[in-house]
Amino acid sequence: MNEGDSTAGSWYEATRVATPQRPRLNFDLDVDVCVIGGGLAGLTVAREVARRGWSVAVLEANRVALAASGRNTGFVLPGFQEDIDSMVERIGLDHTKQLWALSEQGLDYVRRTIHETGMPGVDPVPGWLHVSKTDNGDAIRSEVERLRWIGANVEAWSTMRVREVLPNQRYFGALHFPGAIHIHPLNYALGLAALAEKAGAERANDILTPRLHNSLIYPNMSIMGLNIHVRVIKPIAVDRTEVTIYPIRLVGAPEAMNFGNIRLLNVTHSAASFVQTDDLESFVRAQKGLQSTMTDWVDISRGLAAEEPDRERNATRELATHEMVVRAQYKAWLGYMHEAA
Ligand SMILES: Cc1cc2nc3c(=O)[nH]c(=O)nc-3n(C[C@H](O)[C@H](O)[C@H](O)COP(=O)(O)OP(=O)(O)OC[C@H]3O[C@@H](n4cnc5c(N)ncnc54)[C@H](O)[C@@H]3O)c2cc1C
Repeated sequence: MNEGDSTAGSWYEATRVATPQRPRLNFDLDVDVCVIGGGLAGLTVAREVARRGWSVAVLEANRVALAASGRNTGFVLPGFQEDIDSMVERIGLDHTKQLWALSEQGLDYVRRTIHETGMPGVDPVPGWLHVSKTDNGDAIRSEVERLRWIGANVEAWSTMRVREVLPNQRYFGALHFPGAIHIHPLNYALGLAALAEKAGAERANDILTPRLHNSLIYPNMSIMGLNIHVRVIKPIAVDRTEVTIYPIRLVGAPEAMNFGNIRLLNVTHSAASFVQTDDLESFVRAQKGLQSTMTDWVDISRGLAAEEPDRERNATRELATHEMVVRAQYKAWLGYMHEAA
């Protein structure tokens, strides 16, 4: 999003909440969804897309909500510009009712978003009055009936009731929509932009935070959440083992990410790397150590007292440097030998 200089000193501008500078898009960006236009429509889409875990970029030619979305009257109402009779005539009663229900959902979305996120500076004021300037109580009551018939939440207000809140002799009865709200439209749009960014950042954090560093699945699989490769350890003989690394290509990931993964594997798991060479050295030393005749026992008790049950995963937990895995392997063999006996 590009936020240029502020426009004229209107009420909207004078009362707008502070927003971050958003940079021009002058670099390559690979996203799941690209929204063109940072008005109410585009920002709502961006927020919902980000909330569902997709990456999204909003491209705005000017500044977020600089157009109609940031300078409208701020009425959030159910219904449509078109009058009900012509809607029923064109699409039938059932479809008119469905469309009305959809508009109520839209109103509910705005109301819930403001309430649940504590959006600053939007200050929703409940209710909306459609006031008549002629004394036509009967017409208002029949309009209320017609609107209720298609599912509207509306009531008729008498002249007296209207004048209690709007003391003006020119005003008579009114249609009152109690579920409708009046908002600061610019701050609502800016709030949506902030929510879209927050949802994106939270999701990125969620993806990048590994929950389990190292999961061992008996008998011979270890999944390390931080790594993006498969390492196959294949015994060839009692004193010879082959270790092969396969990088994983992430389907749908940006090329730069897959390229970065190969680069990382060169550092961590190539023949000249510092992780793989270390592991292989330990492996060789373990094999050499097992050939020793200096002691009758192999001590695998490290961390014995620190094993913890993990009921959620039906597993046992311990520090990666402890020897639980080795003990588990022997325990399993013991079980197999008992079964066979
Ligand atoms: C005076 C006025 C009062 C209104 N009062 C109300 C009201 O009380 N209640 C109500 O519900 N509605 C009201 N409306 C209508 C409401 O404001 C609009 O329906 C709504 O804001 C439209 O949102 P939008 O996202 O579709 O479009 P816009 O708000 O127009 O946003 C479109 C955005 O896309 C950007 N853009 C366009 N082309 C490109 C491009 N090629 N590349 C990048 N960016 C681009 C524009 O810069 C703009 O920021 C009012 C409208 C006006 C004008």
